[in-house]
Amino acid sequence: MTDNLEELAVHALPKDETLRIIGSQSTGLETPEAERRLAAHGPNRLIAAPSRGPLVRFLSQFHNVLIYVLIASAIVTAFLQHWIDTGVIIAVVLGNSVVGFLQEGRAEEAMNAIRGMLAPRAAVLRDGRRTSVDASDLVPGDIVLIEAGDRVTADMRLLEARSLKLEEAVLTGESVPVDKSTDPVAIDAALGDRSSMLYSGTLVAAGTGRGIVVATGMATEIGKISGMLERVVTLSTPLVRQMDIFSRWLTLFILIIAALLLAYGLVVGHLPFAELFMIIVGLSVAAIPEGLPAVMTITLAVGVQAMARRNAIVRRLPAIETLGSVSVICTDKTGTLTRNEMMVANLVAARHIYRVDGDRYAPGGAVRWNEADADPREHAVLLAFARAAGLCNDAVLRSADGAWQVEGDPMEGALMALAGKITGNGGDPFAVGWTRVDAIPFDAAHRYMAVLHQDEEGRRHVHVKGAPEAVFALCAAQCMPDGQTAALDLAYWETMVESLAAKGQRVLAVAAGAPSDDEQPLTQDELSGTLTLIGLVGLIDPPRPEAIAAVTECHLAGIRVKMITGDHAATARAIAGMVGLKNSDLVLTGADIDRMDDATLALAAMETDIFARTSPAHKLRLVTALQSQGLTVAMTGDGVNDAPALKRADAGIAMGVKGSEAAKEAAELVLADDNFASIAAAVREGRTVYDNIKKVISWTLPTNAGEATTIMIALFVGLALPVTAVQILWINLVTAITLGLALAFEPSEEGTMRRPPRRRDEPLLTGELIWHVALVSLLFAAAVFGVFFYAVDKGHSIELARTMAMNTLVVMEIFHVFFIRNIYGTSLTWRAVRGTKVVWICVISVTIAQFAVTYLPFMQSLFGTESVPLREGLLIFALGWVFFALVEIEKQMRLTLRKRA
Ligand code: ADP
Ligand code: MG
Repeated sequence: MTDNLEELAVHALPKDETLRIIGSQSTGLETPEAERRLAAHGPNRLIAAPSRGPLVRFLSQFHNVLIYVLIASAIVTAFLQHWIDTGVIIAVVLGNSVVGFLQEGRAEEAMNAIRGMLAPRAAVLRDGRRTSVDASDLVPGDIVLIEAGDRVTADMRLLEARSLKLEEAVLTGESVPVDKSTDPVAIDAALGDRSSMLYSGTLVAAGTGRGIVVATGMATEIGKISGMLERVVTLSTPLVRQMDIFSRWLTLFILIIAALLLAYGLVVGHLPFAELFMIIVGLSVAAIPEGLPAVMTITLAVGVQAMARRNAIVRRLPAIETLGSVSVICTDKTGTLTRNEMMVANLVAARHIYRVDGDRYAPGGAVRWNEADADPREHAVLLAFARAAGLCNDAVLRSADGAWQVEGDPMEGALMALAGKITGNGGDPFAVGWTRVDAIPFDAAHRYMAVLHQDEEGRRHVHVKGAPEAVFALCAAQCMPDGQTAALDLAYWETMVESLAAKGQRVLAVAAGAPSDDEQPLTQDELSGTLTLIGLVGLIDPPRPEAIAAVTECHLAGIRVKMITGDHAATARAIAGMVGLKNSDLVLTGADIDRMDDATLALAAMETDIFARTSPAHKLRLVTALQSQGLTVAMTGDGVNDAPALKRADAGIAMGVKGSEAAKEAAELVLADDNFASIAAAVREGRTVYDNIKKVISWTLPTNAGEATTIMIALFVGLALPVTAVQILWINLVTAITLGLALAFEPSEEGTMRRPPRRRDEPLLTGELIWHVALVSLLFAAAVFGVFFYAVDKGHSIELARTMAMNTLVVMEIFHVFFIRNIYGTSLTWRAVRGTKVVWICVISVTIAQFAVTYLPFMQSLFGTESVPLREGLLIFALGWVFFALVEIEKQMRLTLRKRA
């Protein structure tokens, strides 16, 4: 093959010529050749812009108002030659930056790891067979199969196109989808006019096709245009931004107060500037919650990772917050509530009902009628079933280590297995000499799929499979057991559909026809009324046991679960009963929805939990209807047409396995396993993250306010400071980055999924939180002054009194962490006391630090501390318990009253 593909202008070459030049064939590359090409061309990836280097990231930590204030203070103290103060301030600055740096790195890593989980894949032909590979493994010469909803992963010359439409806005800026075909175009055609080409990064809006890869990675058009792909990690949510802005205003507020206090101290208090200045610095550091935004970010990152472990991949960070407040989940049925492991259970023909046995996708097993093995020679209609099932099919069955697996749609896999069972032949007994010349792909809007084949003698055959109503509408006649045809007995078939569906089976109808031999493509109008109905196929797809448990969990958590399916109403009802949906007798169909206006629909949608025979457009109306009733809606989807509903939903959830790229890109969350249980897990994690953010705030604000109150009281009343400025700086250094951070790692509280969802507009700063801040600040200040005066009164030195006061503050902060861990229940359970590893690591580090500052001689000289005698130490510890008891009792009183309300 030639190495310089760019100058070939394959868009202007006939497709066969392209195949030849690139050195490939219509059956695709052989694996060794693909590997050789991969080594030669490199992976099919755009080179990402380098992320900010560690040094830049570290330096950016200093870009913060508080840090500026601190650096200015360090300079002032250095001028005053208060070297210890200078040293401690610099330590605080460095400590804060190092922690911020590490946290940010961790959070970015978490997001990057998750991006890797969403790496796109491509369906290619290798060694003559369809397989799925990582898009980064594509090489020039690969034959790629594409369908609606795919994101094109390399530049390709089209070899086959059926109703193919591409949305090429990324390349051309044109958002209206353009038609594609295999015909060569003029050599000088502009990019947007090269209808024979598919370009990497564009989106397949409709149709199917296959193309040969002509350029990969940076050689693609998108690679040439963008040069480098922007790599932006957004680690922010509305909540974090809100807190960020809040802390900035708070900082300003505190700085003004500090300036006023400085003036007041100088003019009224007649304090020496040097001393006063340090007090004001201590006050500012104490009051400003500098670490808060960073700790919130790490809380989110921890949440993202926890969700990923539960197979829920967050694409947009704000979704974490939304998920916690979800009050209704609208879910697909097939593959989400059920396993999507289909097996044909029954066949219904004009006179007979057959039972199909066998093991999942293995093409062996038996077809029984009246309990005796049915022989296809005696039942000609069975052969017709096999043909329709096998030909109107895009799936491939493959046996790996004795187990049969499907490449493609599981339902089509089951039909392929059925064909194998009927013909008693594991291979491919129908396609001998038959070639597919045209197809109408399945679409959730028309609900059937049709194929046109040509046999050895040039005769043309149409096969159709699809939802019964859709197929009946195309049929005029039906097959009889002896192979003759008769007029369609619609009443009979409709009864049979109902009876299969009532068992929870997914029902398909299959039909065949023999169009005249003229060269015409398949069209929907052409098919109408020309086909002969072969019969019905009933497939079982059992519910996932874990989905049943998850539905119950959601109900307990005050979340309504609604099923939205394209399946038949009776099937939907049966499955809904099995998974335990509420109101499982009430079903609204797509046709019912069409008859309703928005207001009627809004009311009906609240009551109904089952929606059947819906198309993607109905999903959008349903989301809007539910939202109009004040609900926070999570909606699942997989197809291209689901994208608008996913975008509209508060939390759009796409299927990771069977979902299209278009759906994934529209969604906030992607399920790695398509499982409903993962949605419930994500909601639980979402609630936990929100709780933890609240806990971080509830711990940080009172701590800051308590410290600041203490200093302000001392200053105003003209008392000796119970804790010196350096000591305040020290406390901030050791506690803010340990204790506060520990709360980011809190696991879900026990009752997390037994609470109703929080209101979407619930404010963060509730009256309750403000009350908690006031109460705890007051208790902190009281205890610090109490201990200080007690020590002075006992005749201890002022240094010892201060050491005791400082330790009291830290002990209370530790107890406060244990209190905050359980804001919804009691903290006096074994589970609550045992805590988590992170909490204990933090508590032990803080304790060690406090012992060091209290007892090590060199620390004593730095911080003006003195060794605390054992008895006084125990007193301080006891005070911690008293504080804990007080706030805990106060919480119990509040919780009791709330229950009453
Ligand atoms: P679901 O909500 O269960 O995923 P779909 O919208 O995928 O439903 O399918 C709706 C109906 O369309 C199915 O009940 C079935 O009758 C028919 N159908 C689904 N997939 C195919 C297919 N690949 N070929 C033909 N008909 C199909
Ligand atoms: Mg489906």
